[in-house]
Amino acid sequence: MAVAEEAILGAWRKDRSFDVLLAGAISSLLVALGGVLAMQFRKRAAMAKMLRERERGYRLLAENVEDVVTRVDMNGKRLYISPSIEKLLGWSAAEIISQSAYGNLHPGHREIVKTVLEGLGPDNPTAACEYLTCRKDGTYVWVEAQMSYIADPREPSPEIVAVVRDISKRKAAEEQLMAANERLKELSETDTLTGIANRRRFDDTLAREFNRCQRSKSDLSLLFVDIDKFKSFNDTYGHGAGDDCIRQVADVLVSNLKRPGDLVARYGGEEFAVLLPETGADNAELVAEALCQAIADVGLAHAGSSYGRVTVSIGVAGARCDARTSAASIMTAADGALYVAKEQGRNRVCVAAESPSLTLVRPAG
Ligand code: GH3
Ligand code: MG
Ligand code: MG
Repeated sequence: MAVAEEAILGAWRKDRSFDVLLAGAISSLLVALGGVLAMQFRKRAAMAKMLRERERGYRLLAENVEDVVTRVDMNGKRLYISPSIEKLLGWSAAEIISQSAYGNLHPGHREIVKTVLEGLGPDNPTAACEYLTCRKDGTYVWVEAQMSYIADPREPSPEIVAVVRDISKRKAAEEQLMAANERLKELSETDTLTGIANRRRFDDTLAREFNRCQRSKSDLSLLFVDIDKFKSFNDTYGHGAGDDCIRQVADVLVSNLKRPGDLVARYGGEEFAVLLPETGADNAELVAEALCQAIADVGLAHAGSSYGRVTVSIGVAGARCDARTSAASIMTAADGALYVAKEQGRNRVCVAAESPSLTLVRPAG
């Protein structure tokens, strides 16, 4: 009995030791697994925190900068637009996201922006353009977009990231500056006494018109108009009356020229130059005769003149603009013709002979 009990207890003790060992091993495994799990949870929490922080950082940037940040695909479909769009255009991001990126551009700028956007690619990854875009209230605002081409190999297709900025204040300042420059240019080319073009504008216009006429092989004529015996007019009536007389002559010349391309300028003291593009010497002579007559018809008294009134003498030169002529040779010829008109008794028109070099042929006598 004693032996049997010992044998039975021995076997039981063996089983118990094994169970204790097994339980210990399982517990250790569970503890280890718990440790690994806890570590994974901590890692996950840390990563989630990091992602939240990163996302918050981007969101803060996108939502709080004045500029609008947008992503569009290569077809102009909007993928994202920052809430700042509402301040710029009046539409909320949710309202505008479904609209095409080209939808609210000014019709005159739509193709330009489309061309710039579609021109972006791996070889041309950035571009900028300025355009007018429509607000919700129907008014237009000037914006500037800085676009970048982004090709992420993990994404199926490339996209454009654009930063859009309101530049209306800059544009207004630019326009003001341009208007001021225009005004300055206008002033620098205007004669202060008469308000008509001055010699600077005449010279520039003559050079331009001559080149244009040369290209089209057309005629160009030039008149030099000089008030007769003006020194005597000043001496008799005073300098103020002389100024008035110059102004009146300028008015008569301007009002008697019909074509928009014609230009009258005060070339010097009491001398005017008239440019008649696309006009041959024959027609220019007719114009000059009409001007000469119109000034005499004003009937402004001039005691020092043999005509008893203010008159002008006009030299005319006209030529087909080709390689043999130059603006300077037409000027010289018109000046020479004016000299002859003076010599022949004033209050008349004299035409320079039309020849390639426009050498003045003085009438005999
Ligand atoms: P001609 O018939 O040969 O042209 O004689 P003219 O007296 O007109 O020519 P001249 O060149 O001898 O004199 C031009 C005069 O024009 C002299 C000058 O005092 C006057 N003059 C030039 N500019 C002005 C101006 O701006 N105002 C006034 N009042 N007179 C001017
Ligand atoms: Mg004179
Ligand atoms: Mg003169």
